Amino acid sequence: MLIDLNEISSGSLTRRLARSVTIRYQDQVVQVGGDAPVVVQSMTNTDTADVIATAIQVKELARAGSELVRITVNNEAAAASVPEIRAQLDKMGVQVPLVGDFHYNGHRLLTDFPACAEALSKYRINPGNVGQGAKRDTQFAQMIEMACRYDKPVRIGVNWGSLDQALLARIMDENAQRSVPLSAQTVMYSALITSAIESAHQAESLGLGRDRIILSCKVSGVQDLIAVYRQLAKSCDYPLHLGLTEAGLGSKGIVASTAALSVLLQEGIGDTIRISLTPEPGGDRCKEVYVGQEILQTMGLRKFMPMVIACPGCGRTTSTVFQELADDIQSFLREQMPQWKLSFPGVEAMNVAVMGCIVNGPGESKHAHIGISLPGTGESPAAPVFIDGVKAMTLRGENIAQEFQKIVLDYVQTRYGQAALPKV
Ligand code: SF4
Repeated sequence: MLIDLNEISSGSLTRRLARSVTIRYQDQVVQVGGDAPVVVQSMTNTDTADVIATAIQVKELARAGSELVRITVNNEAAAASVPEIRAQLDKMGVQVPLVGDFHYNGHRLLTDFPACAEALSKYRINPGNVGQGAKRDTQFAQMIEMACRYDKPVRIGVNWGSLDQALLARIMDENAQRSVPLSAQTVMYSALITSAIESAHQAESLGLGRDRIILSCKVSGVQDLIAVYRQLAKSCDYPLHLGLTEAGLGSKGIVASTAALSVLLQEGIGDTIRISLTPEPGGDRCKEVYVGQEILQTMGLRKFMPMVIACPGCGRTTSTVFQELADDIQSFLREQMPQWKLSFPGVEAMNVAVMGCIVNGPGESKHAHIGISLPGTGESPAAPVFIDGVKAMTLRGENIAQEFQKIVLDYVQTRYGQAALPKV
């Protein structure tokens, strides 16, 4: 069979061109939209009133690579704590911009706690939770006024779990007047998008710059999210924050978020992302950052850290040695990255292969910058190491993991360190 090579196309994508929004804290500037790379953000789950616990978690999320960190500001104690959290982060040398998440009482908290309004770098406003009836517009206006006064961008973040009920009722009434009414699902999509865009226009009419607004319309179903964002992207040029809300626990949350976000990102939709994973008890909150980064990196949209290529193992590997080595090297790379990013520019593009046996081990290892092919069951107890496609040495014995880490470290220092710079 002959394959028509003209029909093979690469998976390249064209980003939707959104207006650019700048979020800053002192020297730290994060650009969302325009031609900026897709930004990864996260949210704490500590009690914001607990200054130390929240500052420590923000630091961990920032160290993991979260470029913005959102904290809930749900009551007076939380609002009073925000400047203290910021000060604590400053003491720790953490400049990540903080985003305040407001519901129900944001107008009052921002007004009554000006230091909180000042310390935050962005406000998230949920138009479905701003207030009921006549109070809705007044309270929304109060929040926008604070954003204007302190020159802060806002995300107008609609969520289908807290959709503006008055607006939904209005759209349902309009739908009932149509000769052929739309489905309930389409009405819901329309209400989400209308809530976001009308609120953005309202914010602009109150004086907030068009370049200070980001939108999101989060739902928890993969197909719903794709449908809503496709339409939202066509309907405006505000930058879009993507996330599958309430994605869930463990692999379900990761798979659902990846499925939804990958389709949209491939279509060029999305300027910033957050992965809303439910943490397992005692689990690492930073996982939501790693998953977001891995989605972007595996899609070829950004590079955050060296990738570990590891085979799944099979009946040829009856020991767990290679699984442990793959896990050790992944943890080692992640641990080193905050410092490596500064000292070894370009290291995030490195690939490391950890393979379980001779079948694909040497081949895959040769394609990586550094690869190790461990002995499968019944194979001679030797692990050839390949560097830049060439067999460089063979490791044996009990300390293969430590020796391999040392080889990786030497490679990074030589290839990406000062030694790699041309002499002048
Ligand atoms: S490389 Fe070897 S151990 Fe790994 S999956 Fe392939 S055959 Fe199995």
